[in-house]
Amino acid sequence: MDMTDIKTYVSLVKKNLKSKFSEIQKQLKNPIVLNIVQVGNNQASNSYIRGKKKDASELGISVNHIKYEENVAPERFFKELDILQTSIIHNGKPEGIIVQLPLPEELKGFRLDRLVDVDGFSSDSLVNPCTPQGIMDYLEYNKVMLDGMNAVVLGRSDIVGKPMARLLLEANANVTVLHSHTFYNDKHNFLKQADVIVCATGQRNTLTNTSLDEYKSDAIVIDVGINRNDDGTLCGDCAPNLPVKYQSPVPGGVGLLTRVALFENLYRLISKRFLGENE
Ligand code: NDP
Repeated sequence: MDMTDIKTYVSLVKKNLKSKFSEIQKQLKNPIVLNIVQVGNNQASNSYIRGKKKDASELGISVNHIKYEENVAPERFFKELDILQTSIIHNGKPEGIIVQLPLPEELKGFRLDRLVDVDGFSSDSLVNPCTPQGIMDYLEYNKVMLDGMNAVVLGRSDIVGKPMARLLLEANANVTVLHSHTFYNDKHNFLKQADVIVCATGQRNTLTNTSLDEYKSDAIVIDVGINRNDDGTLCGDCAPNLPVKYQSPVPGGVGLLTRVALFENLYRLISKRFLGENE
């Protein structure tokens, strides 16, 4: 089966999600809200937040954007984040919180309760981090039978590589995680046996289109990276047009899966809290 184009897939997911939110809202006393906490005025963060607000409005969800100055006192930031969480949990509000990264160094130790953490960053979160979850949802929609498949994940960060490997393992794939200490020859040996490759290194040309790299012709490559070419255009971690069955585009690929996964996570969180549902 051909993989569905990511833009088409995302618009289908959004349509479905909009009606799921509308259904669950009927059973709740309070409005569903996504709280976005931002510190400073990072341009990339501003653009991501604009995207989240646009998605939320399409899905019929309210956004509460809380913006602090870059030099906000840590005591105030932590205290107000605590008050927000407590108010959501104790008042039974169907709300989630995302703290937009990057954060100043002194604020990085913030902690979100699992009941409000839509980003899935806490170790005991009710949901998974958005990027790996979005990729899993997309693979599942496309009926990629991960059970028994050879999956290679390049990168082992806490927000992408590690949770990606865990989710693939939970889906019964044979998972190999490669990183910056992996020997060159080993990398090629693992790649040429891989059915699914998720590349999240933040390094251009981690997977090349040259005879140095071999792939299964029916391999699926998911390119997580967001990098810039020398001419300033966006590119992924992989060279374009790899000789594989499917390669996700950059831009217009995993970024869109991640965006929609945030709202899937909000829905999952609210269902678990208020309907006691596992999904
Ligand atoms: P990090 O920099 O935190 O982690 C990169 C990982 O890649 C590290 O584990 C590193 O290994 C490993 N690595 C570096 N070079 C190689 C290599 N040549 N071969 C194999 N592994 C290598 O990045 P993130 O995980 O946060 O993000 C990865 C990329 O994905 C970035 O480009 C980021 O912008 C993008 N991203 C995109 C998202 C989206 O929505 N599209 C969301 C999140 C991230 P080691 O541990 O040994 O240092």
